[in-house]
Amino acid sequence: MHQNKLFNQTQLKLAAWYASVMGLILSICGIAVYLHMEQTYIQAIDQEVQTLAGTLHDSLEPVLEQPGQLNAAVKQTLPGICLGTTPCKPSIPDSHIHVLGINNRDPYYVRFLTVSSQLLATVNTPPQVNISPQGETWQTIVDRQGQRYHQFSILLKTSTGQPWGYLQVGRSLSGYHNHLDSLKVFLILGLPIAMLLIGGASWWLAGLAIQPVYDSYQQVQQFTADAAHELRTPLAAVQATVESTLEVEDLTLPEAQMTLQTIERQNRRLSQLVHDLLMLSRIDFNALSMKQQICCLNDVVNDLVEELAAVAITAQVSLTTEFKSDQPLYVMGDEEQLYRLITNLMINAIHYSMPEGLIIVRLLKEDQAAILQVQDFGVGIAPKEQSRIFDRFYRVNRDRSRQTGGAGLGLAIAQAIVKAHHGSIRVQSQVGQGSLFTVRLPLK
Ligand code: ADP
Repeated sequence: MHQNKLFNQTQLKLAAWYASVMGLILSICGIAVYLHMEQTYIQAIDQEVQTLAGTLHDSLEPVLEQPGQLNAAVKQTLPGICLGTTPCKPSIPDSHIHVLGINNRDPYYVRFLTVSSQLLATVNTPPQVNISPQGETWQTIVDRQGQRYHQFSILLKTSTGQPWGYLQVGRSLSGYHNHLDSLKVFLILGLPIAMLLIGGASWWLAGLAIQPVYDSYQQVQQFTADAAHELRTPLAAVQATVESTLEVEDLTLPEAQMTLQTIERQNRRLSQLVHDLLMLSRIDFNALSMKQQICCLNDVVNDLVEELAAVAITAQVSLTTEFKSDQPLYVMGDEEQLYRLITNLMINAIHYSMPEGLIIVRLLKEDQAAILQVQDFGVGIAPKEQSRIFDRFYRVNRDRSRQTGGAGLGLAIAQAIVKAHHGSIRVQSQVGQGSLFTVRLPLK
């Protein structure tokens, strides 16, 4: 469950939609399976009845002599045959004379009729409903108990070609109905159980689908809160300075200048913050117009070592470069952004170094990539913090970092620039030993 009501409602709605659609699909599939089984089963029954009728027809016709008369050869072919209308016990089939095995097929029956539809003989007990055959036909019969039968009638001829009478082969449909009934029960009971399972799975899947949205929503919320907090600090400082200055009755020029300096400093901080935020959001939305120019990393590093020399002297640290490749390294990208990237890393290295510390900016070539390393031997970063320092507004030691003037956006911007240049950035660090930031950029 999420803390936000909107997300819980959305998850519920998603799950309900998913479960409804799945339920509908499942019901349609269930009905389709039922209809298909019904069709296939009845076809199989009809085919079996027809095959049996055809086999009997083919084996009896050569031995039939007088129309409407059953001779010994017929009785030999069908040992369980009962003459007339009275039902009789079928004789135990003799394996030598038993040809068709109809006696063992309980749901089947056979009926012999004269051409004028008078009953001559039966095999097994047929339904007590007589329907006159009209040529070669299929009939569905319902007896007094409501049992249904499928029956096939065929005209028999004597060996001389005269019409002999009718042969009717039928089968009870009770097995077929039992089978379909159990399928219906299975589907009707199975559907609610399946719906319960689908409901659970839908809730879980909707949760999975909504989680990334929820995470980014939380990130945005956190970002907004952090940004507001960072903006409030300089604004509050300006407000306090102005208020205390207004209370002074005879404001001297040095006092006024001090106030203005404070306001100017806080204003600069505010502009820097707004600039950084704007840049991050533009990188996020790919709206930053990144120039595609050939940039020499050696030149950028040399320039920055020169530019930051004064800052390094103030912090009492020395800056050195190590270029380990014979050739200068060129990458494709926006020179201004690359300056910003390396500046952020070098400024951090200066800020988090001890006095008398050393900072090495290294350039080397590895496969088809330019590797830039900024190494310091300063305070270092604890392992659990290392994965978080690239987050926006994240500062390891909030109070100490605030003294350096950073808002915790420097590494987030560095990472965004590296990503925009299709590269990668990582940190290796040990508390008290120092940090090594490695940037990998594809070579031109
Ligand atoms: P900030 O503006 O606070 O420096 P960054 O995004 O540049 O923000 O850095 C985030 C945090 O990572 C810093 O607050 C600092 O604690 C830590 N950090 C960055 N670079 C170094 C470094 N070279 N040595 C030690 N800690 C560092």
